[in-house]
Amino acid sequence: MQLSGRRMGGRPWEYAPHDEMLGYLESIVDSEDIRQRLHLGWRVAAANHADGVWTLRSDGGEERRYRALICALGVNGRPRLAPLTGHFAGEQLHSASYRTPERFKDRDVVVIGLGTSGGEVAGEVAEHARSVVVAVRTPMWAMTRRLAGFPLDWLDNPTLARVVPWSMRRRTIAGLCTLTTGGLRRHGIPRPTRRCGDDIIAISDAFPRAVRRGLIDIRPGIDRVEGDEIRFTDGSTTRADVIVHATGFELPTEFLPAHARPDKHPLYHGIAHPRVPDLYFVGLVEAHRALLQIAEAQAAWTAEVLRGRVELPPRAQQVAVAQKEAGRRSRDFGDRHPFLVDAARYIASLRRERPRRPAVAT
Ligand SMILES: Cc1cc2nc3c(=O)[nH]c(=O)nc-3n(C[C@H](O)[C@H](O)[C@H](O)COP(=O)(O)OP(=O)(O)OC[C@H]3O[C@@H](n4cnc5c(N)ncnc54)[C@H](O)[C@@H]3O)c2cc1C
Repeated sequence: MQLSGRRMGGRPWEYAPHDEMLGYLESIVDSEDIRQRLHLGWRVAAANHADGVWTLRSDGGEERRYRALICALGVNGRPRLAPLTGHFAGEQLHSASYRTPERFKDRDVVVIGLGTSGGEVAGEVAEHARSVVVAVRTPMWAMTRRLAGFPLDWLDNPTLARVVPWSMRRRTIAGLCTLTTGGLRRHGIPRPTRRCGDDIIAISDAFPRAVRRGLIDIRPGIDRVEGDEIRFTDGSTTRADVIVHATGFELPTEFLPAHARPDKHPLYHGIAHPRVPDLYFVGLVEAHRALLQIAEAQAAWTAEVLRGRVELPPRAQQVAVAQKEAGRRSRDFGDRHPFLVDAARYIASLRRERPRRPAVAT
């Protein structure tokens, strides 16, 4: 992988551990001399646009004014808890607060949700807990990280992805899911109900291992909780000391005026707000691959717009294009994840719009 034309060190053919990733990103911050321009610990409490200026107010009450606002908030901004009917007497936490499995030793644990987080947490905790039950309301497609020892993301070749249609790649991914985790159905993992690729594919090595060893019990969604008893929608019950909500995240956009929030209207090219001037969102996408190169292409496109080297069409045209793009995403990926994009094609489409000699290297 490379960002800003800089190759990553370490073992590029392997998944990078987090300390290697952090070191790589920090090296870019240093070599681009960005650090001195970062205002860390400045949480934006309110942002308003008037007379061609964005005024940001921090939660400490300080105000700053800017020509344009680029929100890089991440789609994993605020943990979302599952609403539970009844009163649970034990401990509850979101997967975002999960660190290590040892503290679950000898406890009865219920994990809600079986995406990547739910699978990883359940798989790790199962080695220590007295029991692990996973409540699965909507079964998802899942795969392991490796096949015969090789990282599966080797197959994610951007050149291939640009020429082979998503409908065919979807079938290949479904085949890989079936090959690596299809056998788990014998252990009670329900068959996915949606098309493969309409959700983020759940990726875990620990989960299939724990399921095959009989360490994880799968149940449907939770009906209600009372004391330490959890009742599932099929009428079965279990007792629990801890509930882990692996139920995803919400966008932390409450600091924006309601009409400027990106969940209300599709964005032009998934970046520019077509109805609010000088408002951009970088990283507000999901894909069946890592976000970094997508975010880099979005950042480079936004920089060209701000430099006036890429011209935005009139607002009405931006709205029409944004709606057409959203329609295409909905056909390709369904309506549950409005920010899902076909990464290689999306990056290519942003690059096509940029001038031949970009102001920002990618
Ligand atoms: C458990 C987990 C495991 C993951 N594992 C992987 C992986 O192995 N590989 C991979 O490629 N991706 C992984 N991801 C996804 C990856 O973390 C995200 O794609 C990436 O962090 C998104 O980067 P971002 O900069 O867009 O957002 P974030 O990293 O979420 O950063 C957003 C920033 O905005 C700040 N912010 C939010 N609101 C405000 C505000 N009002 N004022 C000021 N600042 C604000 C936040 O504090 C934060 O620093 C994982 C995600 C999770 C949750």
